[in-house]
Amino acid sequence: WKSSAIGSFRFSTAADASTSHQSPPKVRNLIGGEFVESESNAFIDVLNPATQEVVSQLPLTTNEEFKAAVSAARHAFPKWRNTPVTTRQRIMFKLQELIRRDMDKLAMNITVEQGKTLRDAQGDVFRGLEVVEHACGMASLQMGEYVSNVSNGIDSYSIREPLGVCAGICPFNFPAMIPLWMFPMAVTCGNTFILKPSEKDPGAAMMLAELAMEAGLPDGVLNIVHGTNDIVNNICDDGDIKAISFVGSNTAGMHIYARAAAKGKRVQSNMGAKNHAIVMPDASLDATLNALVAAGFGAAGQRCMALSTVVFVGGSKPWEEELKECAKELKVNAGIEPGTDLGPVISKQAKDRICKLIQSGVESGARLVLDGRSIVVGGYEDGNFVGPTILADVTSNMECYEEEIFGPVLLCMQADSLEEAIDIVNRNKYGNGASIFTTSGAAARKFQHEIEAGQVGINVPIPVPLPFFSFTGSKSSFAGDLNFYGKAGVQFYTQIKTVTQQWKDSPSRAVSLAMPTSQ
Ligand code: NAD
Repeated sequence: WKSSAIGSFRFSTAADASTSHQSPPKVRNLIGGEFVESESNAFIDVLNPATQEVVSQLPLTTNEEFKAAVSAARHAFPKWRNTPVTTRQRIMFKLQELIRRDMDKLAMNITVEQGKTLRDAQGDVFRGLEVVEHACGMASLQMGEYVSNVSNGIDSYSIREPLGVCAGICPFNFPAMIPLWMFPMAVTCGNTFILKPSEKDPGAAMMLAELAMEAGLPDGVLNIVHGTNDIVNNICDDGDIKAISFVGSNTAGMHIYARAAAKGKRVQSNMGAKNHAIVMPDASLDATLNALVAAGFGAAGQRCMALSTVVFVGGSKPWEEELKECAKELKVNAGIEPGTDLGPVISKQAKDRICKLIQSGVESGARLVLDGRSIVVGGYEDGNFVGPTILADVTSNMECYEEEIFGPVLLCMQADSLEEAIDIVNRNKYGNGASIFTTSGAAARKFQHEIEAGQVGINVPIPVPLPFFSFTGSKSSFAGDLNFYGKAGVQFYTQIKTVTQQWKDSPSRAVSLAMPTSQ
């Protein structure tokens, strides 16, 4: 399947398929409506994490090409902002239809480049598709406000206007969903956009861009440039780019937040996580076990909302054996193989880092209940696989607890009371998501009220909100003040203009130099 599957889904115009059989296609930039091969002489390999096969080669886009992309976006802006919002919405209606049409192709690309299972890859696309659906209602979402007769014969109203050129910088773990968090909302608000996909799995973003063009998005409204740190710094520094949406690690996110803010840009920066589950002694056994295993090991733990730490109130021992038995049953294999539960992690470096953090846990006194480090997957011996791993007796001073592991590793901690468990969670530097498993409404309410996390789950393991709410995050998991999608997403991609108007039949000729006040 390996070569033929790659051949059949490969994006047609977005990558150069005309090169010889041996050389992998070069991923193209999208500038002013054209998918163009970069003039750069520096390329990096996009690898299939299950096989190390080179899927494509990604350019480190040159400064000139970057400037051309920004220039295309700047030139497309005046016409696009004047395009009726109903027309912009119709393009989103078409885009959602095309994404549904190509769901399987998109999922296949994600599985090959990112490693997750095909079913999980479909979920990746679907959660992004929901944001496109949300953008279809932009006319209502972007509506302003009106107060009549704020003073005698004077009315005030506000209009939400697009900012101009906006940019998005994406992580590797959701190659379709995260680009779809960004450009559909931004362009339907009337902005033009520069997208920088993850250098590790750019394929889905390229396919989505093709679909956006097919849906009727005019040339220059969406542009794509590839690269790593240099292109990101160019985005931060460019005077024509007004706003940056970032999703990824804290190192990159805080750098971008500071550098872009110094240039006067607005930034929304979604970053790392250490999501805790608190399990109360009265929690329903089977439902809780299923939730912990699914949210701890799904996508090989590479979700920003993965539940990576469980705090058992009243002791973890009764749960450990059950957890271990469930986790041992999970099938680790290439994401493309039927029946796979966990695919590989993204890279050899990621695998090494995960294994080192597991080892550091063991050396600092944690108990290894299940060790997935030495797993070998038949037929995929070169894959970056880590099997489900469970560490118990973890304490909050251990490196494996302080660092985001971003792998299939579940940490088990203990607390004597709900108060103590909440205190553990609140002392953690991250605040992306947290869940409680309980049959007590009083415990659930206390948790919801006191927990310091953006996304709260009550008997729900991965409480990612649908797009009519916003994806949030607090403490070190988010920088900025306007979150992704939902009402806040529209506010992020627009600025308010307030208008005060006066229409009087016979304006007074009396001159007053005093500050106008309501009459
Ligand atoms: P990453 O930070 O390594 O990369 C993200 C983007 O930033 C990439 O496009 C990359 O090219 C760029 N980048 C990386 N280092 C940079 C630097 N030093 N200077 C400038 N640009 C840089 O993140 P990743 O490994 O691709 O993604 C995993 C991380 O993303 C995890 O920490 C995860 O928790 C986080 N994440 C958070 C959310 C959320 O909503 N909070 C969602 C998904 C992923």
